[in-house]
Amino acid sequence: MAAQAHDLIVIGMGVGGEEVAGRAAEAGMDVVAVERKLVGGECPYWGCIPSKIMVRAGDALAEAARVAGLAGRATVAPDWAPVAARVREATAGWDDRVAVERFEKKGGTFVRGEARVVAPGEAEVDGRRLRARRGIVLATGGEPAVPPIDGLDRVEYWTNREAIEATELPRSLVVLGADAVAPVAAQLPRWVTIGAAGLLLLWLGATAERRLNRLRELRQQFKES
Ligand SMILES: Cc1cc2nc3c(=O)[nH]c(=O)nc-3n(C[C@H](O)[C@H](O)[C@H](O)COP(=O)(O)OP(=O)(O)OC[C@H]3O[C@@H](n4cnc5c(N)ncnc54)[C@H](O)[C@@H]3O)c2cc1C
Repeated sequence: MAAQAHDLIVIGMGVGGEEVAGRAAEAGMDVVAVERKLVGGECPYWGCIPSKIMVRAGDALAEAARVAGLAGRATVAPDWAPVAARVREATAGWDDRVAVERFEKKGGTFVRGEARVVAPGEAEVDGRRLRARRGIVLATGGEPAVPPIDGLDRVEYWTNREAIEATELPRSLVVLGADAVAPVAAQLPRWVTIGAAGLLLLWLGATAERRLNRLRELRQQFKES
């Protein structure tokens, strides 16, 4: 099968790939960009933007709670539905048509699919062979990491993606991890505490052993409560 030749092949169209591919196309290069999910990647669909909608909503609730004692009386009735609706509005319901068009208007060629580098300067997407005259840019980002915790594979768990897509809140929640994403995920407990019977919140940033021990302790406490 003959390979289609382009100056540049960009694999992965998250914020990184989109920027490189867009700028190279604007500068006159013949660019083909491949994305298996959504152009824009994690940030606009499951990361930065929708998570800040959750943060902003949580902040508004926290601020409203301060009215009593500061400025009079306020009645607040928290509701997750407008938060979920704003997330859907901001992500266009996880639709990247606008982003694809933006890239194509810059002169790039877009291919939806999973790319594999198959030879020096060559990639394959669903049986279609692409050849790069100048180079291949790998901008494949990352995937949520699932920690090796015994039994985790037998329970339902969320990554940031399910948390962002939630239309209903869980009755209780454990947050594992203490990097930048965990405090964002921990916005959910702000809501869970308001409407739920139980909350178990855990931010863990120490060693795996300490994490597991703390998890066991908290599980025990949770059972006893
Ligand atoms: C909850 C949360 C909140 C965040 N908040 C912020 C914030 O406020 N500010 C900030 O700066 N950053 C934030 N981040 C981090 C930010 O989302 C990432 O830094 C950014 O998305 C990384 O961009 P990227 O292009 O490197 O990778 P990604 O966004 O992961 O994009 C990589 C793309 O490559 C695609 N891909 C992978 N393999 C292939 C393949 N073989 N073929 C085709 N396509 C492929 C993937 O589908 C994906 O779309 C947040 C992240 C999360 C999870």
